[in-house]
This record gives sequence, structure tokens and C-alpha cells, in this order.
Amino acid sequence: MTTAATAPSVPLSPGEERDPSRFRCTQCGDCCRLHRVPVTAADIVRLMEARLELEATFVEWLAPDEIDMTGEPESFVVLREGRRLPVLAFRHGACRFLDEGRRCTVYAARPASCRTFPLELESATDTPPRRLTVLQDAACPGEFDAAPDADGFCARLDARQRELEEHVLLVMDWNRRQRRRGFAGKRPETVEAFLRFAISRSPRSAVHGGEQGRGPMEPAATECGRLATGSTHRNAGNGPAER
Ligand code: SF4
Ligand code: SF4
Repeated sequence: MTTAATAPSVPLSPGEERDPSRFRCTQCGDCCRLHRVPVTAADIVRLMEARLELEATFVEWLAPDEIDMTGEPESFVVLREGRRLPVLAFRHGACRFLDEGRRCTVYAARPASCRTFPLELESATDTPPRRLTVLQDAACPGEFDAAPDADGFCARLDARQRELEEHVLLVMDWNRRQRRRGFAGKRPETVEAFLRFAISRSPRSAVHGGEQGRGPMEPAATECGRLATGSTHRNAGNGPAER
């Protein structure tokens, strides 16, 4: 496995101008104003613990007609109010955790999506080599002049992917439970019940896996050892990768 400090950038393909492994956040705060940030159950619990606040103060539960989740219908949680997607609440046109100085006030506990924006890993086959890319339509004015850190970005993206997969499984289990309640003539449960369910099911690594230094978790060598870099563009995500 290469290390973040010594890994050279892989030569870019013809026509590619930016090396994603050299991304540097300029701390403009645009991503905290322009995007709604979906959060996982682990994100919510981590923020509740960090802030000692109830989720109601920082989470909005959006209905399907309030946010485009095309291709990801499994992300919606069945609740008493209907199907809902948890996102970070907005205040004065920005994430409510963005302060007036454009700083993230929950940096160590920020959602997994915020830790990786505007980068992602893509692979046609789910096997190495994967490509570190910049999300399409990210509208991020970050620079690409930092020391190459492909492994560091890879570690954070892998941690995010694991957390997302755990979240989808958790939501599927929860939604099945609500369907069983429906068959028994009972109403769906509340947000509070969902959070209790999430806390009881979340592995401690997910709930407490906040960033320690740059990468929240160490990547497996096979996942990052043959990482390629590039600058293809795909769907937009949310939140700054580094502040
Ligand atoms: S990094 Fe994420 S949690 Fe922090 S202010 Fe921006 S959107 Fe909010
Ligand atoms: S990740 Fe990009 S859009 Fe977000 S604060 Fe950094 S430079 Fe700005």
C-alpha cells in the first residue's frame, strides 16, 4: 500500500487538467449553501452526541417531492408522516452548522458526505484500479495544488461508502418493520423510534468513527493500492472535503 505522504500522482489522461488527488478546499462555504446534505442515521447520532442536541434542531425530514433522489428510492425512511429523507437543516440560506465566518462548527463530527466533497471513487467493475474523480456539477472553486494524497481521499471515500451501505441496510430493515406493522393494522412509528432503532443497530465504528486526523478509517491495501487519478465528472455531492 502506498502512503499519503509519498504517493506520486498518476499521470493524467490526455485532456485532463486537474489531479483530484491534489484537491485543496478554499473554504468558500459554497457547498454548505448550494446543496442539501442527506445524512445517515450514523451521521445524526454522531452529531447529536457532538452537539448534545436533539436531531429536531438540525435535521429536516424531506418528502419525496421536496428532493430529487432519482435512482435511490431506498433512501427514504417510512415514518408516521410518510416517506422522508433526513437532510441537514438550513438556516439563513445555508447549513445551520455554517457560521458567519464560513466555518463548519461541527467539523470533527460532520456528515460523511461533507468529508469527501467534491471527490468520489468510480470503477466500472468495483475492482481496482478505481479512479479518483471530481463530481460532475460540483460547482466547487477548490484548487488542485496541494501535495498528492490519493490514499487519504480514498480512505475517506471508502469510509463514506461503508457508512452509506450500512445506512441503506438499516433503512430497509426499518421499512420492512413498518410494513409488518401495517399488516397488523398499526400506524408507522415516529422519528424518535427510528433513532432509537438506529442507535441500537449502529456499530460503534460508524457512530463514533469521526475523523481522527485526515482519514476516518484506514483503507484496505487492495482497495487503494492501485488507485488511479483522473478528473472525470459525475453527479454532485455535498460538503467540503477538507477545511
Ligand atoms: S461541512 Fe457539512 S456540516 Fe459543516 S457546515 Fe458544511 S454542510 Fe454543514
Ligand atoms: S469543498 Fe469546494 S465548495 Fe466546499 S468549501 Fe471547499 S472549496 Fe468551497
